[in-house]
Amino acid sequence: MLLREACGVFGVFDFGGRPVFPFIYWGLISQNHRGHHSYGFTGLDEDFVSHRSLGIIPPMRHPVIKRLFKRLRGNVGIGHVRYATSGRDTQYWLLRDIQPLVMSDSENKVALAFNGNLVNVKQLRSELRRRGRGSFHSSSDVELLGGVLLCGLRRSDLSSAVEGCMRTIEGAFSVVGLTRGGELFAFRDPLGIKPLCYGCSQDNQMFAVSSESVGLDINDFRYESEVQPGELLVWSKDGMRRETIVECRRRAFCSFEFAYFARPDSILGHGQPVYKIRETFGRNLAREDPDIWRRVDVIVSIPATGDDAAYGLHEESGIPWERAIRRHRYVVDRAFISDQRERETIISKKINVKEAIKGKRIAVVEDSIVRGDTSRKIVKKLRRAGAKEIHMYFTFPRIISPCFYGIDMATFGELIGSQHTEEEIAKLIGADSVHYQSLRNFVRATGMSEDELCLGCLTGKYPTPSAQKLADEMRKRFEAGEIEMGRIYEVA
Ligand code: 5GP
Ligand code: MG
Repeated sequence: MLLREACGVFGVFDFGGRPVFPFIYWGLISQNHRGHHSYGFTGLDEDFVSHRSLGIIPPMRHPVIKRLFKRLRGNVGIGHVRYATSGRDTQYWLLRDIQPLVMSDSENKVALAFNGNLVNVKQLRSELRRRGRGSFHSSSDVELLGGVLLCGLRRSDLSSAVEGCMRTIEGAFSVVGLTRGGELFAFRDPLGIKPLCYGCSQDNQMFAVSSESVGLDINDFRYESEVQPGELLVWSKDGMRRETIVECRRRAFCSFEFAYFARPDSILGHGQPVYKIRETFGRNLAREDPDIWRRVDVIVSIPATGDDAAYGLHEESGIPWERAIRRHRYVVDRAFISDQRERETIISKKINVKEAIKGKRIAVVEDSIVRGDTSRKIVKKLRRAGAKEIHMYFTFPRIISPCFYGIDMATFGELIGSQHTEEEIAKLIGADSVHYQSLRNFVRATGMSEDELCLGCLTGKYPTPSAQKLADEMRKRFEAGEIEMGRIYEVA
């Protein structure tokens, strides 16, 4: 099974009536780390105008992009970059599942782009069948969300339709959308599992919604705030409207965003840039292992998500940080690879190790270990380069349980941390020792409290009931020795 990351969304509205396509383009480019499978843009002329394609967004001078500039001339639009965490991954389905998705019934038509994963998929499918929306054209969750939204719009207005989504859908959903009437809207599940924020241009004429704040930065927009969990924002020719649709009783923001997903220069949670938080992760790793300076001569990090933590570890411990591991920058392929052998080759091709570490005892800083493939490969390369001892330091605490909200690590069996102790893991990956940041310090460093984060993969305690039930059932089956299926919860 693949390990893939969440998607990125972006939407813009210009009160000055100017074309917004370039802003969406840059908003998505800045969030390309959130998805390489496919990308799409949807604007509004007389009707919706879309461009969707597989792969990574081409550079600005590419003829496709130049043509799009001409076609997408409206003052409102949305865009999406995707890593498939739900649905199927053959070419056929990847093409069908590209977002934004345009959906309609006899009365309404909407375009939608979303980041997240729905958990009560079966229930939603049968509910939609009952309401006469039983034929599905994609294998992606967004079609279910769109179905619920359209059913709501038939009966009432956008606010009630969004309320219907928030009350019946369990899972993570950060959504941007367009109506045929030219409104831009954005909403976020009541737990706020995935990020979503909005901002405003310097002349106050344009507003943008973005998964991460870097989408605002690149466009020189001012960060205003998060879209709050349970909140709906709407921009139309009448102005901007902000509504609490469902009260947020507790947040459950994805903790993995802090360790891995988000760009280091994004702002998440309560306002600190992610790289600062990652530096603190590194400091914590040093404090939690007071013997580190006796154990280790030099620190190295696995680029790029380990770098900020390595800086923190270096500052706190005083041990030199040697930038001996570098990335082959344009090898971006990992997420496409479903064949295990090919996947391992790609991991190998990404990383280059220089021999400056020969004869040294080294601390390797890495954001996370999921299945152990990356760490195993790197340890091997470091040994070959002559490292004397290798001690692994992970900023993300031990992953013991699957994720149901959009991170593709969906079975117990594939998680190295669900079955093994630190000592065993060290052996399995060929390292001399393994150190995880403690859960307590991890949480504190994020600036959020335990009740504001989703820690499902670290504790086995999930913020929504179906996810909990699924995890409990899966664990039982796993412990009974049954072969696990990937994404059991997805099968209709
Ligand atoms: P492992 O190789 O142990 O299965 O996964 C951990 C490694 O994969 C780390 O280097 C981490 O930076 C990276 N990683 C974690 N989550 C994801 C993901 O969702 N997508 C991709 N492409 N890499 C990931
Ligand atoms: Mg990595």
